[in-house]
Amino acid sequence: MLKKPLLIKVSLCCIGFLAFVFALNAVGGPYLNAVFSKEASVVSQPKKKVMYLTFDDGPSQNTPEVLKILKKYKIHATFFVTGAELDYASYIKQAYEEGNVIGIHSYSHEYDEIYQSESAYLEDLRKTSDLILEQTGHKTNLFRFPGGSSNTVSRHYSPSIITALTKKLTACGYQYYDWNASNGDGNPNLDSNTLVNQALRETKGLDEVMMLMHDGTGNHATVEALPILIEAFQKQGYTFEVIQTGTDGFHHHIAN
Ligand code: ZN
Repeated sequence: MLKKPLLIKVSLCCIGFLAFVFALNAVGGPYLNAVFSKEASVVSQPKKKVMYLTFDDGPSQNTPEVLKILKKYKIHATFFVTGAELDYASYIKQAYEEGNVIGIHSYSHEYDEIYQSESAYLEDLRKTSDLILEQTGHKTNLFRFPGGSSNTVSRHYSPSIITALTKKLTACGYQYYDWNASNGDGNPNLDSNTLVNQALRETKGLDEVMMLMHDGTGNHATVEALPILIEAFQKQGYTFEVIQTGTDGFHHHIAN
């Protein structure tokens, strides 16, 4: 049996604690959920919106302009590079040193050469990998197939080559990346307005975007569209990230 003063103290203490919990619940329900339920804290977090800007087919004379824009907005992108215009190769080094990620695209980017055989593709990949190593001092295991992994052009040169290459290269630790949205600049005749509109249309409702763009010779409209798109995506709450080992590949259905 508790003595009376002690009983009062204990009762007051209990009432105080209950009042505290009640108040906390009233003003800080989400906080309490986060503290007492791990699951609830996961559910209550708004989904993070992530945008991976990717540029294929460079470097070219358009690459320094793209780099300047990325720098201005303090964001980074991933460049899948070629050896098609070696005069601009030093922009691979500059892009890398400014915090962007460099992946392998193709040395020649000639479909009829690289998709002729597995060995032809692997030789082209090795040459691009060496070019990147030369410019950055680092080897990369990230690559993107010319035409994407779903391309059917390769079928004309070598049936099942993409299926075989994905198996072989994945087993060697390489990771390939496709995309789930594009600004449409694969067609170099489109103007910047059209590119902006297509990119906004294709990203509508997506929380995670792997955006295909190009910084090759014919892609100046992409440079013009880029600041408009970056600002639009920022307004929509996207954060810009670069591809790293382990980033989801946004893989297409392999058709060959
Ligand atoms: Zn390409």
